[in-house]
Parts: sequence; C-alpha cells; structure tokens
Amino acid sequence: MKKICVLGVTGSIGQQTVDVVKHHRDSFEIVAMSAGKNIDLLEKIMTTIHAKHICVQNEEDMIYLQRKYKDIHFYCGEDGLISIATLSDVDIVLNAIVGFAGLVPTMKAIEAHKDIALANKETLVVAGHLIIPLVKQNHVQLLPVDSEHSAIFQSLNGERHCDINKIILTASGGSFRDKSRLELQHVTVEEALKHPNWSMGAKITIDSATLFNKGLEVMEAKWLFDVDYDDIEVLIHPESIIHSMVEFKDTSVIAQLGTPDMRLPIQYALTYPERQPLIGGKRLSLGEIGSLHFEKPDFHRFRALALSYEAGRKGGSMPCVLNGANEQANALFLNGHISFLDIEKLVEEAMRAHHWIDNPCLDQLIEIDQWARDYVLERVGER
Ligand code: NDP
Repeated sequence: MKKICVLGVTGSIGQQTVDVVKHHRDSFEIVAMSAGKNIDLLEKIMTTIHAKHICVQNEEDMIYLQRKYKDIHFYCGEDGLISIATLSDVDIVLNAIVGFAGLVPTMKAIEAHKDIALANKETLVVAGHLIIPLVKQNHVQLLPVDSEHSAIFQSLNGERHCDINKIILTASGGSFRDKSRLELQHVTVEEALKHPNWSMGAKITIDSATLFNKGLEVMEAKWLFDVDYDDIEVLIHPESIIHSMVEFKDTSVIAQLGTPDMRLPIQYALTYPERQPLIGGKRLSLGEIGSLHFEKPDFHRFRALALSYEAGRKGGSMPCVLNGANEQANALFLNGHISFLDIEKLVEEAMRAHHWIDNPCLDQLIEIDQWARDYVLERVGER
C-alpha cells in the first residue's frame, strides 16, 4: 500500500488523482491532502477520502474545519504544507499546487526522503538547479506527472542517457493556435479558457494559449532529463495524441501515444514501474482518428516560447523572473486588467529590467519571485 500526500487536491490534477486513487484503493491511500481556498470542494472530497491530515491556505478556514471535524488534524499556510508533506507515514508526495507556492513544500518533502510525483512544473522551472542535486543527495524518485514529461520518461524506459539525440515536446498550440498576431490583440478571457483538448486549471489553460506553458515545459524537460536547450524541440501537434517523443542517436524515434487523459500520467507516476488498468480510460484508435498533424512553432507569433528558451539558456535567476512575472500577468489577464498580448510584453519587460544572478539560493528565489510580481503590478499601475 502506497501512502500518498496530495498537495492541491481541489485542483484539476488533484481531483483526477482522487479519481485514480478511488479506483485502486487496494494499492493507494491518501493519508494527507491540501486545498487552497475552495473549502466546499474540500469538504466534498472528505466524504470519500478519509485523510487524517489536511492543510488549507487560510487560518480561518482551518479553525472552521477543526471545530467541525474533531478526529482530523488540520494545518494551514506554507508551514502546514511542509508538515503534511513530511509526515512519517507519507511515501510519496503528489504536488499539484499551481505556481511558485509549490516550491518549498517540494524541497522539504525531498529533504524528508519522500518520492515526488510532480505536476507543479514551476518548481523545476525556478529551482531545477537546487531540486535535482537534492533529489540525488536524498536518493528519492522524481516522477513527472506532466503528460509530455511522462511520455518522455516512458520513451526513455530502458534507454541510456548517452543515446539521446533530442527530445521532441509536442504542443497542442492552445486555444489560439490558428490566430494571427493581429487577431490575438482582441481575444477575450472566455476564449482563452476554451482549450481544444484538455480540461485544466485556469492558469495553465491561459499558459497553454500564450505558449508559456510549453516554455515552462521546455525548462522542466531540461532538468528532468538533463538535456541541453539545443536538444529540446517543440512541435505543434493539434490532436494531442502523441504526448512527446525522444529521438536517439541512431535516428530511431520513440513516442508515447494515448487519448488525452491526465489520469494516465498521474497513475503511472504512482504505480511506476508497474502499470495498472486505467479505469474509465478511452483506448486509442488510430484507425478512427485517421490522421495526425504537425507543424513547427512560429517563434515570432509565439513570443512566449522564444522568451522561455532565452530565460532557460540564461539560467540562474532568469527563469524565476519569467515565471513570477508570468504568474502575475496571467492573473491580471484572468481578472480582466490587461490584454492577452500584454502578458508576454510584461514578462519580457521584467526580464529586461532584472539584475541577473547566477545560482540563486532559495531565499534569493523567493525575493526574485516577489520582485518580478511587484514589477509587473507597478508597470500595469503606471498605465
Ligand atoms: P488548479 O488551479 O486546478 O489547482 C491548483 C491547486 O492548488 C488547487 O487545489 C488550489 O486550491 C491550490 N492552490 C493554489 N494556490 C495555492 C497556494 N498559494 N497555496 C496552497 N494551495 C494553492 O491547477 P491544475 O490542477 O490545473 O494545475 C496544478 C499544477 O499542475 C500546475 O503547476 C500545472 O502547471 C500542472 N499541470 C496541470 C495539468 C492539468 O491538466 N491541469 C497538466 C500538467 C501539469 P484551491 O482551488 O482550493 O484554492
């Protein structure tokens, strides 16, 4: 029986994790979980998942829950996340918190020798240089939940790192794949939130439309698979059937395919190296699909992708600036304060204004993240 701590249980990935666990109660148990502010949904989840340790974002919510559920230990804030992620009876932490907030709990869980199933890509984007050595020192497993990285991970099963020629990350292209720069000037939040293939949280859906999500994934792939940026290629593949591929030095290409269903990479991260039936999973029928399409991304139209490669190649503090500025700009767009194209503009401005440092420690990353957010807010306030 694998004992799991799910961080971000009220989110899109968190709820799909609950679904996976419910279908495999003989293999998994959620012993701890966290929510942010969605207490109604948390209470609904608590009717089927009887975790003894639960963390919420705010103290008032913790006090409310403590009064109502006397036999459960409640926690709050970042300290609470760290407490539940490092509990002695947790084997694996599935981190499905969105954004920079996922970083510290991941680091502390690794230091407490927990295996990590990582959906929270922002952790590796901003702090890959700290996380990867920490994983090695503590002899834990870092298992990708992102579908593209799970595909690469599966394609690399049994292969030698020295045989990799390049990684090919597929991208659906998001909600605005076929729009010109001119058309992108006037797109709305509602349009951006309509992803053609995946149902996801709001932040990542907007990131998919800007292609910052793919940019973050490029950086995530660099750290997970120890490859140079020159050896990571992004390929637009509208059907999201090929989840990513690896090209080897003998020209062979190995890919992982499947119908778009995040429960598969979630489950694989939990069962690895074994496989279990995916209950309710739709089998892939290439005969029914008929044809798959591919095109190279236009780095001018998808400016976010160009900025992400630039930040990744620069390294040090730059990915943290890109991530923090993007999180802030993404939220401003979602709240109707800025236009869609302002997101990449503000991120670029933050990158240009930043005083770069090499090899930032955790405290410096926390400061830089805050600086990037404040910078974006100031720029928007000045208009
Ligand atoms: P959601 O927005 O749906 O869920 C985010 C979760 O994090 C919620 O449980 C939310 O709580 C919680 N949360 C948000 N902010 C905080 C905070 N400051 N402190 C503590 N908890 C917080 O996101 P997704 O599930 O879509 O994505 C989660 C992560 O997984 C992201 O990093 C994303 O990039 C990655 N990912 C997602 C995929 C998907 O299909 N959704 C695919 C691949 C990767 P509450 O809602 O209760 O406030």
